[in-house]
Amino acid sequence: MADYDYDVLIIGSGPGGYVAAIRAAQLGLKTACVEARETLGGTCLNVGCIPSKALLHGSEKFDEAVNGTFATYGIKTGPVTLDLAAMQAQKLDAVTQLTGGIAFLFKKNKVTWLKGHASFVDAHTISIEEQKVTARNVVIATGSSVTPLPGVPVDNEAGVIVDSTGALALTRVPKHLVVIGGGVIGLELGSVWRRLGAKVTVVEFLDQLLPGMDGDVRKEAAKIFKKQGMELRLSTKVTDVAVTDGMATLTMEPAAGGTAETLEADCVLVSIGRRPNTDGLGLEKIGLEVNKRGQIETGHDFRTAIDGVWAIGDVIPGPMLAHKAEDEGVAVAEFIAGHTGIVDHAVIPGVVYTFPEFAGVGLTEEAALEAAGGDKAAIKVGKFPMLANSRAKTNHEPDGFVKVIADAKTDRVLGVWCIASVAGSMIAEAALAMEFGATSEDIAYTSHAHPTHAEALKEAAMAVMGKPIHM
Ligand code: FAD
Ligand code: NAD
Repeated sequence: MADYDYDVLIIGSGPGGYVAAIRAAQLGLKTACVEARETLGGTCLNVGCIPSKALLHGSEKFDEAVNGTFATYGIKTGPVTLDLAAMQAQKLDAVTQLTGGIAFLFKKNKVTWLKGHASFVDAHTISIEEQKVTARNVVIATGSSVTPLPGVPVDNEAGVIVDSTGALALTRVPKHLVVIGGGVIGLELGSVWRRLGAKVTVVEFLDQLLPGMDGDVRKEAAKIFKKQGMELRLSTKVTDVAVTDGMATLTMEPAAGGTAETLEADCVLVSIGRRPNTDGLGLEKIGLEVNKRGQIETGHDFRTAIDGVWAIGDVIPGPMLAHKAEDEGVAVAEFIAGHTGIVDHAVIPGVVYTFPEFAGVGLTEEAALEAAGGDKAAIKVGKFPMLANSRAKTNHEPDGFVKVIADAKTDRVLGVWCIASVAGSMIAEAALAMEFGATSEDIAYTSHAHPTHAEALKEAAMAVMGKPIHM
């Protein structure tokens, strides 16, 4: 049998890669993880989930202090000012502690951290800068990067046309921020800078925000963000951005074509999606092809078409989410070790961490209807407004609802959608229920502590049978 330096070598230390490395080591496999960045943790910890949530939280506190929310509780404040450098510093502190935490976990679990850019020499040999290492199994966990918009060159240093990484590091509050793309990144980072004082315009190609979410949620999102003061330009495409003396002039036209118009901004965020990282990996050396979307296809066990080469996370099909990558990281290590890994791709929650939060798991109403061949009688929908939830009332959080979609015959829950201040936490219960094959009745007859936002899920489940109590 061939002798390898490692049982498993993982390329990329994001939520997919670092979790796979730790679990592989826990299972007794000699494991290494290669990372091109200076720090571990990938997009999520360095320039994604973590820094964005630190700024979302900080900016929410600032907004509450200046917009009169404190006053509704009888709290009087003096003049409130923003120390943006301090807000950025607390963000960096969270990032540094968490990326350092992964380095600690690698040491603790005896995972070798190989620093540098990895590429295939053959299916079992990887070159990292000047070094070559061999492994019986190689896991590609290289993640994704920002999709560029032709004619709109990002320059994060200059800070006029930026991507999410640049928008997380701005050292001034823009006067007018134009966000191109009304998806998750555009709305989260648009919310950060709106709360800190920027006028924000969101230009979205489609006729609704938040692609992939339930139709009712998308409609409500547009209402909520407009009410918060964001300007929404839906069904609109940006055709050009010219920068002169630190100011950008955007040319836009209706998505279906028509008269062009221009818009001035001192900052433009390009957030039109992300694409898998496979450039420079040397996939051609091992004969591994990518699909039309640039993704690496795998089987349910995350094996690619090449023996001994596996792939997980943003680089393979499915939602580009950290927890999906993490679950796949655990599973791939278990498969490699000869166990059975489990990821239920039908039950992966998604959360937009704005205020309120938007969250969902399972099928949208549209997808459930489509799956039922368009037969409206085949599904039942229960909805409950947060306005009627006692905890949302005490907290002055009137916006949002919970929606439960169930199979009309079996009552099995097919999807849950939620707009609430804490929707991201509430959706965990729905995901667990669905994982256990719950019916709406199961949720309706489960005791929920009072007063909690979670009671709205119980009421929405009761509403599936037409019998909510508080509505
Ligand atoms: P990544 O985290 O992208 O990690 C891949 C790593 O591989 C990178 O560090 C890269 O440097 C390294 N790499 C690539 N090629 C090579 C190579 N050839 N050699 C060596 N190293 C290499 N998801 C959520 O679930 N919740 C959120 O709140 C959330 N917020 C986000 C906010 C922003 C602004 C962004 C951009 C993304 C956010 N995401 C969020 C998405 C999340 O970050 C990704 O889904 C997740 O990081 C994917 O994990 P991964 O392990 O597949 O890849
Ligand atoms: P996205 O796919 O969520 O949204 C991109 C939006 O841009 C879409 O609405 C699309 O219609 C629009 N668009 C595309 N081309 C356009 C154009 N030329 N002009 C105007 N609009 C255009 O992508 P994103 O917001 O860039 O986020 C990328 C990925 O990162 C997502 O897949 C998401 O899962 C992940 N992410 C997740 C979180 C979270 O879980 N909270 C946060 C940030 C990012």
